[in-house]
Amino acid sequence: MNVSMQACGLILDLLLIYFFSRHETVGLFSERIFRIALVVNTICIVLDILSVFSIVFREVVPGFVTVGACKLYLASLACASFVAFIYTANDIRHLREDETFGRIVKIILGVGLLFILMLPIDFYHQGNVVYSFGASVTTAFAVFIMFTLGSLIITLINGKYMNAGRRNSIRSWMALEILAVALQIIFPQILVVGFGSAVGLFILYCELESPEVYLDRATGIFSYDTLILYMKQLYSEGRDFSGIAVCTDEDWKMDTEQEARVMLEISEYLHSFGGAKLFRNTDHDFLLIYNNDEMEKNQIESALNLDMIKTRFQEFFDGNMTVRAKFLYIPDGHIATSYDEYLEICRLYKDELGQDEVSRLLDESAGSHIREQREVKNEILAALAEDRLEVHYQPIYSIKERRFVSAEALARIVNSEGKLIMPGLFIPVAEEYGLIDRIGERVFEITCHSFRENALLEKGIEYLEVNLSVAQCENSRLSEIYRKIMEKEQVSPSSINLEITESSTLHYRNILLDNMNTLGKLGCSFALDDFGTGESNLNYIVDMPVQLVKFDRSMVQDYFVNDRAKTVMRATVSMIKEIGLKIVAEGVETKEQLDAMADLGVDYIQGYYFSKPLQEKDFLKFLEVKNLVA
Ligand code: C2E
Ligand code: MG
Ligand code: MG
Repeated sequence: MNVSMQACGLILDLLLIYFFSRHETVGLFSERIFRIALVVNTICIVLDILSVFSIVFREVVPGFVTVGACKLYLASLACASFVAFIYTANDIRHLREDETFGRIVKIILGVGLLFILMLPIDFYHQGNVVYSFGASVTTAFAVFIMFTLGSLIITLINGKYMNAGRRNSIRSWMALEILAVALQIIFPQILVVGFGSAVGLFILYCELESPEVYLDRATGIFSYDTLILYMKQLYSEGRDFSGIAVCTDEDWKMDTEQEARVMLEISEYLHSFGGAKLFRNTDHDFLLIYNNDEMEKNQIESALNLDMIKTRFQEFFDGNMTVRAKFLYIPDGHIATSYDEYLEICRLYKDELGQDEVSRLLDESAGSHIREQREVKNEILAALAEDRLEVHYQPIYSIKERRFVSAEALARIVNSEGKLIMPGLFIPVAEEYGLIDRIGERVFEITCHSFRENALLEKGIEYLEVNLSVAQCENSRLSEIYRKIMEKEQVSPSSINLEITESSTLHYRNILLDNMNTLGKLGCSFALDDFGTGESNLNYIVDMPVQLVKFDRSMVQDYFVNDRAKTVMRATVSMIKEIGLKIVAEGVETKEQLDAMADLGVDYIQGYYFSKPLQEKDFLKFLEVKNLVA
């Protein structure tokens, strides 16, 4: 009998099933389909062999058994090609989500199966050559070719939506299937279809579906890429799930070998929670996802595990290492509407957790917060693209000279409806999403341009103060970029005062110092902003080459709280003056505050008492009136 090909195919399929089921799988749709494809193909080969036997022993077995076995084999052949088609289409989002398309494909299979079962079939048996033929067989091959060619066409038309590896593997699989069917149609005596499919599945396994491809090499847990695929699927299927993000301290003070050992130990520990899938998030972060199809069960299990994990992290790893970790607990994954929103929540809240805060439960408010942030981010991007960023100027009064000698440049966004968005709202978002450099540069360009275009120097403005965000100061290219802008706008660096605040780490403080030295040599001056808020304080003045200190509004207000505050403020002012720096008092709103600041010896006043920040044209009018310039 000519079943040796099928026997080889069967062995190959059984081996694949063995290797595939040996590893934990993520539960991705493509994995599920691949498993079904393996099973269907195996059944198909078994039925193929049975049908050959039933034809050979046609004399002894009842007629309906031979017909039944052959037709079942043909039906399974059609099903195998259908599964291959679904596997391919699943890669293409618009096909995956198109319900009509799904329905049509199922109808085609249904009609095909009906014809295969209804139409007549005949058998040929001569010596070693055994096969079936007739309308039923022709229909089965037609359905098979249609789905296989369909898969091939999908990879051709939609190739751009698939990565090259997937595209090529699926194409090889389909090409093998078509070749096998063509051979079998031309030479009916060689039954190679089952074997061809098995080889195709083998290629697919090696290239795409080996469970290894979903794992992170270093830790053996599911990788970040797999996390994304898995979460995409959870959201598209609307599944309920809970999650625990374990975010370890970024700065592990260990050598690489120890780090690898600790990573493995943490992975193995977290992996022991059977009810959850463990993924490696970025760097040293992990994510446990509980997806038991029952929300309550997910939540109970995850809450319990969270307590255990927290306790474990109080103990040593690798014998003597403590690993500081923060935990984000998300009992309901639906606080986010997509995987990227979910991962962004993890990223943002990890940074937001305070020094002493070990864990935080994130609920719907975290989701809406992120969505608002994203809206602001989109507004910033649109404002940058459509040139809707404005700079307003708040005049700064010199007590000694009794006139306005400078102004602070303050950024605003004009939204698409013409309303102003204030920096308190968009600057932190810009910092978070890496857009602050673009905003800062644009504000600086506008400010420099305005200074020269309006000949502000002649109107009594000696310099303009421009805010620098911490993130900008940490960019080593800052001084070069700002130098070029001043050059292009033909503004003397001495007309620019840059406001800085305290930088977070020593490393970044050094970059800031480099920037300050370069720009300082050119002639720019610097101010320490937000003094008295905790963002900036006295010992910072000692280290930083600033010429100006800006008292925050809160400090000006605190002065009036009690006598102690007054004494502290007096001492602070005298110390700063002794170092030789000038002081600006911000947020001065009343005559009483102005007089008090003047008595204290503050040099400059900025605040609503004199003026709110003004649009350029109003600022020019203000100067004309107040600085008595023509
Ligand atoms: P800041 O640099 O401390 O600026 C002073 C803020 O206090 C301004 O708020 C100003 O309008 C407000 N202010 C001034 N006088 C008074 C007063 O008498 N009463 C009250 N209630 N407020 C007063 P604004 O314009 O909303 O800016 C807020 C913060 O946004 C700024 O604080 C600064 O840190 C940041 N910012 C503004 N523009 C930029 C920019 O271009 N780049 C960067 N990185 N940050 C900016
Ligand atoms: Mg400022
Ligand atoms: Mg300030």
